[in-house]
Amino acid sequence: MVPLYRLFDYKVAEDFEVDGLIPGIRLRVPFGSSSKIGVLLEVGSDSDWALDKLKVVQEVLDTKPLLSADDLDFLAWVSRYYHYPMGEVVGYALPVLLRQGRQVKLKQDQSFRLTDLGTDVNSMVLARAPRQQGLLRFMKQEGRPIAESALRTWHEDGKKFMTELMAKGYVELCDSSAMLAKRPEVGLNADHVALTTEQQQAVDRVNESLDAYRAFLLDGITGSGKTEVYMRVIDAVISQGKQVLVLLPEISLTPQIESRFRQRFSIAIAVSHSSLTDSQRCQSWLSVQHGHAGVLLGTRSALFNSIPRLGLIIVDEEHDVSFKQQERLRFSARDMALLKAKKRNIPIILGSATPSLESLSNVLNGRYQKLTLTQRIGTAVLPTVRLLDIRNQRLVDGLSEPLMDAVRKTVARGEQVILFLNRRGFSPALMCHGCGWVARCPRCDVNLVLHEKLGLLRCHHCDYQHRKSQRCEACRCAELVSLGIGTERVERALVEAFGQDQVIRIDRDSVRHRNDLEIALAGIHSGQAKVILGTQMLSKGHHFENVTLVGIIDIDSGLFSVDYHAPERLAQLIVQVSGRAGRSHKKGLVLLQTRQPDHLLLRTLIEKGFAAFAKESLLERKAARLPPFSFQALFRVSAVSESLAMVFLQQVQSFLGPHVTEGACVLGPVPAPIVRRAERFHYQLLLQANQRKQLHQMLDLLVKEVGAIKMVRKVRWSIDVDPVDLY
Ligand code: ADP
Ligand code: ZN
Ligand code: ZN
Repeated sequence: MVPLYRLFDYKVAEDFEVDGLIPGIRLRVPFGSSSKIGVLLEVGSDSDWALDKLKVVQEVLDTKPLLSADDLDFLAWVSRYYHYPMGEVVGYALPVLLRQGRQVKLKQDQSFRLTDLGTDVNSMVLARAPRQQGLLRFMKQEGRPIAESALRTWHEDGKKFMTELMAKGYVELCDSSAMLAKRPEVGLNADHVALTTEQQQAVDRVNESLDAYRAFLLDGITGSGKTEVYMRVIDAVISQGKQVLVLLPEISLTPQIESRFRQRFSIAIAVSHSSLTDSQRCQSWLSVQHGHAGVLLGTRSALFNSIPRLGLIIVDEEHDVSFKQQERLRFSARDMALLKAKKRNIPIILGSATPSLESLSNVLNGRYQKLTLTQRIGTAVLPTVRLLDIRNQRLVDGLSEPLMDAVRKTVARGEQVILFLNRRGFSPALMCHGCGWVARCPRCDVNLVLHEKLGLLRCHHCDYQHRKSQRCEACRCAELVSLGIGTERVERALVEAFGQDQVIRIDRDSVRHRNDLEIALAGIHSGQAKVILGTQMLSKGHHFENVTLVGIIDIDSGLFSVDYHAPERLAQLIVQVSGRAGRSHKKGLVLLQTRQPDHLLLRTLIEKGFAAFAKESLLERKAARLPPFSFQALFRVSAVSESLAMVFLQQVQSFLGPHVTEGACVLGPVPAPIVRRAERFHYQLLLQANQRKQLHQMLDLLVKEVGAIKMVRKVRWSIDVDPVDLY
């Protein structure tokens, strides 16, 4: 069940033209009784294996390498850092279709330019075709080729008018790669917005060091114009003919950002995220690899795209944990982006309103330069945040009267409200009033979540679900009570109060596809929806002009997590959600319901702000020798029985023990916070060290020796370097 850690040697037929064997090309090779597609990493004349035992390469698939020497070097580094097999890491670097060995041609994003005839002709000849005339005039103004994708932002039917101009001989097709040239903006007055002094300073600082590695932390409050800063710097980089990688945390952010970028830049922009089809992904990958696309906007895996002329990396919302992949190759796209920037000797910007403690500590130790934006754009100011003490208050479906009152008043003023609750479903527990029985997942140590509309009880940790019965499964009593609140329940209450068409819910159940999200966002932007209820999907990046009230329904449970990362996450969440309020000229208000109004985290955050919170947290981490002041890795194991997992880890612990040096330790085995998940038992060892090198030495040893433990075939294990949660 564990990926193979070794690489494989093959030989080529004797009459083979060896010049064609460049690292980075794909090969078809025999593997077991079938064949596999592999990527050539190295050509050598000997092997640790007997030469006559080596199998022969069946087919060479590429004449030019898909991955450059730089790429392979980077991937090898990632493989070493995460102690994950190189073969698997290389897999991440190629889109599925290429991994399968297909030959895929890049469908060019066409570009159009004026012919000599078009340049000379007076646009008045098109007086009877105003659209064509407008387009011709636009092209003359631009004075450079226009990409088909940019044409669409000019006009929905832009392509049609262009075809008509082409038929008249005024324009012709040209190669997109010739287009990595500067161009201010398409039909938009965006470049005329004067930067604020702070924005200008940030842009200048980065622009001063475009040709060498330097890490910047753009620490700017929500709505302070970080994106505008990115776009100015990108403009400078692409005008040097280079490419830019922009990493974004989640798909939910991309529709808005993507259209902002498309409106601004006439060069081809590639996007990469999980809702693309395999074919779209492959096209996007190729357009970047061929150098046609000047900007790649993508989620974490875009990091592995081959980008030949990379000149700048931007990681937006760098604190976001979705940059960390939580299965298989457990990499942090942010951390690896830094490495990539260093290796390519180019600048990198990490942006956030709530920077991670790691990044802040890197500012303090001089590794990053901090750029700050302290003001919201225009007359907008940060909202007032107030704690609503709900002890002894009557809550109706999780909502207190003061909060409901504020919601009503806001809606009555014609403004919008965001209510935030980070729990999907109707209620997190279903209990029998007669005997106390609680619906539990038969496969995990957790309660089932009631999804009332679907009539289902669902496990949020495995895919188990079953129909909600009308009676208790233990005593057959018919009185079942749902305990606690989820978004579905709050939605029902809001719909009763404000009517169906005024309420929009945004969570993973209501928004399953990108389209759903776009429809929901359109409903919000049009002003039709007055009350927007959602999970953290709502906390990110969205800019809603008319939202003046944000209500945070329940975060108390987050105040008591055992994971030392929890306070940081919670503080970031509160600030990000709050940041959705008052983003234009109307002042915003944030109401935070809590039964812990005196909790230190809340007090610090509200009275002194995120920076003060972060500073105190860093001091605490330092005192406790927790990251970023030490380095951690989790060695997780699961097995079908508790004792298997435990005994296995004890054996690991005992061979690791003698090699643990001063300043390092191995804690455990300890049970994972939820021991039984999907019928498997989860245990872990926590490795910690004061020096990163010590940690890697322990992990190297672990990977090398673990295979020798007999039980290894009966367990699944994984290594998580720099874990972001202790699950
Ligand atoms: P952030 O990314 O920091 O949350 P944005 O870049 O989304 O902020 O900017 C917030 C809003 O302000 C956007 O609508 C953006 O177009 C606008 N904006 C940004 N910079 C300026 C500026 N210098 N002048 C006018 N409007 C600006
Ligand atoms: Zn019962
Ligand atoms: Zn389950």
